[in-house]
Amino acid sequence: MTRIFEDPDSFVADALRGFARAHRDEVRLVDGGVVRARPLDSGKVAVLIGGGSGHYPAFAGYVGEGLAAGAVCGNIFTSPSTAQALRVAHAADAGGGILFTYGRYAGDVIHFGEAEKRLRADGIDARTVLITDDVASAPADSIDERRGIAGILCVFHIAGAAADRGDPLDEVERLARLANSRTRSHGVAFAGCTLPGADHALFTVPEGQMSIGLGIHGEPGVRDVAHQPASELAVTLAEPLLAERPDDASRAVVLLNGLGSVTPEELFVLFGFVVDHLESRGVEVVDPRCGEFVTSLDMAGVSLTVLWLDDELEELWSAPASAPGFRKGPVAAAAPSAPGGAPGAASPPATPGSASRNSVPGSAAPGPEPERPPATAAAQHAARVARELLHAARDAVAVEADRLGELDAIAGDGDHGIGMLRGVTAAVGAADDADPAAGVREVLQAAGEAWSETAGGTSGALWGAALVRLGESLGSPETITPADVSAGVSAAAERIAELGGASAGDKTMLDALLPFAEALASEVSAGASLPAALAAAAEAARRGAEATTAMTPRRGRARPLAERSVGHPDPGATSFSIIADVVAQAAVAPEAVAPETVAPEEAE
Ligand code: ADP
Ligand code: MG
Repeated sequence: MTRIFEDPDSFVADALRGFARAHRDEVRLVDGGVVRARPLDSGKVAVLIGGGSGHYPAFAGYVGEGLAAGAVCGNIFTSPSTAQALRVAHAADAGGGILFTYGRYAGDVIHFGEAEKRLRADGIDARTVLITDDVASAPADSIDERRGIAGILCVFHIAGAAADRGDPLDEVERLARLANSRTRSHGVAFAGCTLPGADHALFTVPEGQMSIGLGIHGEPGVRDVAHQPASELAVTLAEPLLAERPDDASRAVVLLNGLGSVTPEELFVLFGFVVDHLESRGVEVVDPRCGEFVTSLDMAGVSLTVLWLDDELEELWSAPASAPGFRKGPVAAAAPSAPGGAPGAASPPATPGSASRNSVPGSAAPGPEPERPPATAAAQHAARVARELLHAARDAVAVEADRLGELDAIAGDGDHGIGMLRGVTAAVGAADDADPAAGVREVLQAAGEAWSETAGGTSGALWGAALVRLGESLGSPETITPADVSAGVSAAAERIAELGGASAGDKTMLDALLPFAEALASEVSAGASLPAALAAAAEAARRGAEATTAMTPRRGRARPLAERSVGHPDPGATSFSIIADVVAQAAVAPEAVAPETVAPEEAE
C-alpha cells in the first residue's frame, strides 16, 4: 500500500515535483513530464518515452544521456494525453525529428499517435516504435499484439544511444525496431499492487501460488501455478525467452526486474539461478542487470528480460547511459544548469494550485478557439441539455465507479471506474466553465477535450473524441431534429471505431454503443419521438452490454487475459449502458434534468 501521500489525487504530480527537485541537475520539469536539463545538440533526434506513472524508474528516470530526451508522464497506470505529449515534444525538439517509443497499450497508442500526427502536420518529422516484449501477452505469431513490460529499457537505451551519437531519424527508428524485435520479457506476480489511497490491492494471488505472465498495471498474471523455489522459477521465467531466441543469437543482455516490493537479496537469489540456467543453454550473458527497472507501485513480482544482441545492438548497448534511473559506462561531465537558475526551479511545478488538483502537469486547457459566429438558439439549447446530461452521467458514474473498477480488475487494470469518474467530472467542469452563450459544438468540444486529457486511459481518449465528434456533427443549425441527434451519435460511434480500431464483437464499449446508435436511428426513422427512441436505444445498449458477458476480448488491456474475462461483461460497454440509461431517463423527464434551463415547450 502507499503510506506517503498528501492527496491521492495529486500523487503523481507531487511525486514528479519531488523527483525533479531531487535530480534538478539532470532533468527539467515541463508541462506534461520532464526533459533533459541540458538540451540536445541542434539537429539531434529527440527520443521521447512515456506512459502512465507508477513504474519508476520508468519513465521519468530514463531521461538522460544515452536514453530519452524527454518523458511524458500520465496519471497512475493511465496514458498521458495528446496535449501532454505535444508539450513535451516541443520542449525536447532539437530539429532532428521525434521518435516516440513506449510499451504497446491502447490508450498510449491513441494519445501518442495523435500527437505524432499533429507534429507531422506542423512540419516536425515524428515516428513511433511500439515495444512488445511481453511473451505472455500474445502468442509468438501475434508479436505485434503483445504489450511492453521491462524490456522497454532495452529499446530506450538502444534508441537513445543511437540518437546521441547523431544517427538520423530513419536510423534511430530502424535500430529501435531492431531492438524491440530482439527483446523478450516474461514475469511472475506474487501479490498485486494497491493504488495510492486505495485500501485493497488490484488483485490477489492465492496463498501458496504465483501468477505467471504479469502485467505492469495491476493486471493479474495469465495463469496461477504453485509457488516454485528459485531454481525452478528461473527456468519458468527463462524458457519462454529461450524458445524465441533468434538463430544467430548467443550473446545477450539479461535484466532481472523487481516490480516494487521484492527485496534486492531475493532478486539476487533468483538472478544466480537465472544466469546458471541461461549459461547451461549456451547463452553468454554480456551485461547482467539485477534491480528495479520497471515497477508497478508496490507489486510483488519479478520479470526477466533478454535482449538478444547482434553486432549493431551490442555496440549501442555498450554506450554510456546517465539518467536518474540508469547509469553505466563512461559518462560525460555533469550537465550545466539551464539559464535562469536551477533547472528544477526554472519551470514552476505545475501542481498543486494550477490546473485541476487531480491532474498531472500538463492537463491545462487547449489553446484559443477559432472565431465562430454566435451559436444559434437551437445550439445553445442543446448545449444546456448536454451540460445537464453530463451532470447526470457524472452522478451515475460516481455511484457505479467501484463496480466498474472491479469489473475492469478481472482482466484489465482496475482503473475503469476511477478513469470514467475522473473523465466525466472534468467534462462537467469544462462544460460548466464554457461561455453561457456557447453552442453544443463548443460545449461538447471543451467537455470532450477535458475528458480525454484528465481521464487518460483508453476509454477516456475514446469518450473524449466521441463527445467532440458528436458536437461537430450537431454543429450550430437553426433546428436540431431527432435525426440530427441520431446522426451525431452514429458519427461519434464511427470516431471510436476509427480511433480504437475495434469492431462489433471485440468486447468493447462499441458492443453497447453500436446497438444504441442503430436502435436510435431505426426508431427515429420510423417516426418515434426522441425520448421514445432514446429509451429503445438505451434498452439496446443494456442488452448489448449484457451480451459482452459471453464474449472474448480482442482489444485493449483485457485481451491478454481474455479467458478470465469470459463470464463477465465488458467494463466499457457496461459504463456506456449506464450512461445511456441516464440519458434516456433524462429525455423522458427533461424538467428533472434541466429544471431552470429547458422550457416545457422546448422539450422534445
Ligand atoms: P484502459 O484499458 O486504458 O485501462 P479503461 O479501463 O478506462 O482503459 O477502459 C477499458 C475499456 O475501454 C474496455 O472495457 C473497453 O470497453 C474499452 N476499450 C479498450 N480498447 C478499446 C478499443 N480499441 N476500442 C473501443 N473500446 C476499447
Ligand atoms: Mg483499465
